[in-house]
Amino acid sequence: MRVLLTIARERGLFVEWSRDLGVWLRGYYDAPACTITLNSLCSIEQQRYALAHELGHAWYGHTSAGDLHTDTEAERLADEHAAGLLIQPAEFAAAELLRGPHPGAIAEELGVHQDVVEVYQRVLRRRPHRILPHRAPGAIGVARTGMTA
Ligand SMILES: [Zn+2]
Repeated sequence: MRVLLTIARERGLFVEWSRDLGVWLRGYYDAPACTITLNSLCSIEQQRYALAHELGHAWYGHTSAGDLHTDTEAERLADEHAAGLLIQPAEFAAAELLRGPHPGAIAEELGVHQDVVEVYQRVLRRRPHRILPHRAPGAIGVARTGMTA
């Protein structure tokens, strides 16, 4: 989680937590406010994925005032971005070597949800030589900071 919070800060995004997002919404990105809000009632793993996913929406400049989560293309991009943040290529390769190609086994090895591995594998099948490049701490220098907990 700390790595993702650092990435958010480097990208000039605030991260907040709320207890008022209901049962289904794990988080959302408010583009005008440069803020990602996470559902504090979710598990840490769910919050971690939600933060990575919402960082994807921010990365792609998704600014829909409506419900971004009904836009399947935006969701696909955000999920792929999240997979790139949550799985490092060397760790994935080592897990695959150790456990074989099954997403569930790799997920267990990496400590992420199987869905994340499936998204990562989908991207690799599409562009095997272009590993998701989004996790580059320090790549974007932004003076603004301001995480709240
Ligand atoms: Zn989304």
